[in-house]
Amino acid sequence: MNPYVSPWMDEELGLFRETVSRFVEIEMVPNDATWRYQHSVGKEIWRKAGEMGLLCLDLPTTYGCGGGDFRHEVVFYEEQARRGLSGFGQGVHSMCAHYVYNYGTEEQKRRWLPRMARGELIGAIAMTEPDAGSDLQGIRTRANLEGDFYRVNGSKIFITNGGQASLLMLVTRTNTEERKRGLSLIMVETENLSGYRVGRVLDKMGLPAQDTAELFFEDVRVPADCRLGAEEGLGMYQLMGDLPYERLIIALCGVAAMEGAVAETSKYVKERKAFGQVIGQMQHVRFKLAECATVTRIARVFVDDCIQKLLVSKLDNEIASMAKYWVTDSQQQVLDECVQLYGGYGYMNEYMVCRMFMDSRVQRIYGGTNEIMKELISRSV
Ligand SMILES: Cc1cc2nc3c(=O)[nH]c(=O)nc-3n(C[C@H](O)[C@H](O)[C@H](O)COP(=O)(O)OP(=O)(O)OC[C@H]3O[C@@H](n4cnc5c(N)ncnc54)[C@H](O)[C@@H]3O)c2cc1C
Repeated sequence: MNPYVSPWMDEELGLFRETVSRFVEIEMVPNDATWRYQHSVGKEIWRKAGEMGLLCLDLPTTYGCGGGDFRHEVVFYEEQARRGLSGFGQGVHSMCAHYVYNYGTEEQKRRWLPRMARGELIGAIAMTEPDAGSDLQGIRTRANLEGDFYRVNGSKIFITNGGQASLLMLVTRTNTEERKRGLSLIMVETENLSGYRVGRVLDKMGLPAQDTAELFFEDVRVPADCRLGAEEGLGMYQLMGDLPYERLIIALCGVAAMEGAVAETSKYVKERKAFGQVIGQMQHVRFKLAECATVTRIARVFVDDCIQKLLVSKLDNEIASMAKYWVTDSQQQVLDECVQLYGGYGYMNEYMVCRMFMDSRVQRIYGGTNEIMKELISRSV
């Protein structure tokens, strides 16, 4: 079979991939077991990624960022996901930077983006609350404008990078009368912030290297000039504008994980013996791998098409939702088959397919559940 090369790849990106791949092999792979054990990747790796120029790759150099485009971000996501690395919250960090870039003033961009690109500020997206996940308009965290600052009270849950985030894109209510027009986005620098508290790092089914956390705000004072947007109440519209970008990141990490798992499983079945032959010679095993490889290729072609559309600002919400839902459902099926082909070893954490399987489950839940994706798609069908 001819090797597949994504149509958006070129020579420059090929060289960039080599650099990224080296960084991932040297700085991330050897640390993954420790990160999984301590439920955090720590701050050092953020600084190292910043020094290498690997953060905020698709934002302009004017703000100290990479000056590339979404393809550069994709390469870094892929190199991690193919190796089953799931602790480094690059996705939410980039999303956080994008909110600043898309909706911030010139002064706000200069205040936050260079430090995010250097890995000095670690970004997080703080939307979900104990009583408001899919139904974001039910958010109760409140920000009251008092002179030149907002007084924030409330709590957030399930926040990726939450344990060590130093810059939050906080979704908060600035108006209690209106559900949709009552939300605003406020950037919150958390270091030494009085009244701000990180709760427990949550004990999860997968993603053990992720410091997913609860966040609490008790009379927290945030300067009024940290709000994104010229007026209050734009939050819901700003959130909707960035959804295709966020959903595509989830889908492309899904397809890269599938590719990594199929490649690894294909090697394994060519070595593992049962009943006097390598299991990879058995028809059932070959058929299962053929099915996994086919689904993975279909997912890849679809995701590549979405990447190309995003590059020219033509990726709409419905197509991004299709990619998020279908790829992550497929990811879980493929990972399940790979675990099965490993037999008992597939159930052992020391094997990559086992870790990938556990990590893959949440892909169908976060970033908008797959049911919400279908709800959105169905409205346009
Ligand atoms: C590991 C992890 C990391 C996360 N990271 C972040 C983060 O960084 N930032 C952040 O803000 N949030 C984050 N989340 C939260 C995540 O986005 C939410 O959990 C998700 O949106 C679902 O919300 P919920 O948990 O409140 O479920 P609910 O909204 O209560 O949904 C429960 C069930 O009801 C279904 N349902 C709800 N409404 C409908 C509907 N209209 N039609 C059909 N079915 C429906 C859902 O699909 C789901 O199956 C994370 C979650 C996890 C587990």
